[in-house]
Amino acid sequence: MTDFSKTRAMFHIPEGMTYLNGNSLGPMPRGCEASIVNFLNDEWKTELIKGWNTKGWFTQTNTIGDRVGKLIGAPEGTTVLGDTLSIKVFQAVAAGLALVPDRRVILSDNGNFPTDLYMVEGLMNLKNDGYDLRTPDPLDVMAQIDETVAVVMLTEVDYRTGCKHDMAQIIAKAHSVGAIVVWDLAHSAGAVPVDVIAADADFAIGCTYKFLNGGPGAPAFIYVAERLHNDVEPALAGWHGHAAPFAFDLSYRPAENIERLRIGTPSIAAFSLLSAALDVWDHADMNDVRARSIELSELFIAEVEKRCAGVTLASPRNADQRGSHVSFEFEHGFACMQALIAEKVIGDFRAPNIMRFGIAPLFNDENDILRAVSKLEDILNNETWKEERFQQRGLVT
Ligand SMILES: *Cc1c(COP(=O)(O)O)cnc(C)c1O
Repeated sequence: MTDFSKTRAMFHIPEGMTYLNGNSLGPMPRGCEASIVNFLNDEWKTELIKGWNTKGWFTQTNTIGDRVGKLIGAPEGTTVLGDTLSIKVFQAVAAGLALVPDRRVILSDNGNFPTDLYMVEGLMNLKNDGYDLRTPDPLDVMAQIDETVAVVMLTEVDYRTGCKHDMAQIIAKAHSVGAIVVWDLAHSAGAVPVDVIAADADFAIGCTYKFLNGGPGAPAFIYVAERLHNDVEPALAGWHGHAAPFAFDLSYRPAENIERLRIGTPSIAAFSLLSAALDVWDHADMNDVRARSIELSELFIAEVEKRCAGVTLASPRNADQRGSHVSFEFEHGFACMQALIAEKVIGDFRAPNIMRFGIAPLFNDENDILRAVSKLEDILNNETWKEERFQQRGLVT
């Protein structure tokens, strides 16, 4: 059994703060401090360029990638790190389209995170070859998977509502009609158990700064099923994905296997932070995390519905259909969230009216849930959200 008091102690959470935003930016694992100082003093400062060999920098895309992969059921050698999730969307969808060259439909849904859709729009403009992006309601996706679809691109857990697609079922249907599926696991990795092998996933991508706590701008990951490795044509053909990067050939030759999904020089400082963040997972079992997340989410929903009049659950009521965040609709959600933040209860707001609360059992407990509900109850009862200072919108919500 995972000892959650132990994992909680592995994070730095400011005194008095209730942090329910680990779904957007995980808090800092204490180990990150020593790890980055070590990187500065014992690696960059002293080794300089030799560090690529002597400190294993060149292979960290894969060695640390394997540790991320383990959390989504990926075998070694099938996951690499680097770049941002937006770039990974482009890479995966471009590769998927090249595998099904005779079809022109990309099927997503209107609950997908906008950058995923924007990246596909950009890719379609670039290809300029009659592609069509469809975005039905999430519940209508299954019905629209047919022989015209080249790639199904979905985010497993909806960033606003927390509503979860049935990954295995969608993959099975897509494969039965010859389509490729790209899963965005941004709100799944470290949040819900994922088994890319059992589900027979083709491509899976995600970021490591949300539930994996790798820090702002931590590298993204891409998983590719082994059966596809050598059929993937990298659209972003960078030198780190070349078969012989230091031969400096004038033309591109893809590396064998997952290596070809590497692009260019990654941030080694960011790897040092992510690596320390992943150490926390050595003390946690994903199934325990899921069970605890459901327990805390159910408590949160029950207490809010009992005590906080005027807000409406925007997430599925059935825990099996939810990821690891819980959202409520409230007409004045933005101002209400600002009032909560002023009380040191940190969640976030997503337009048009969603107050979103991440539940991350590695560091959240019952006290966090009960304190958040009490503050929300007070703010609603006293209509504190009406204060002028809570109406100001910052650059980032
Ligand atoms: C958080 C998130 C992103 C963010 O992409 P970046 O390139 O890391 O900024 C993309 N897609 C989804 C589904 C997300 O939840």
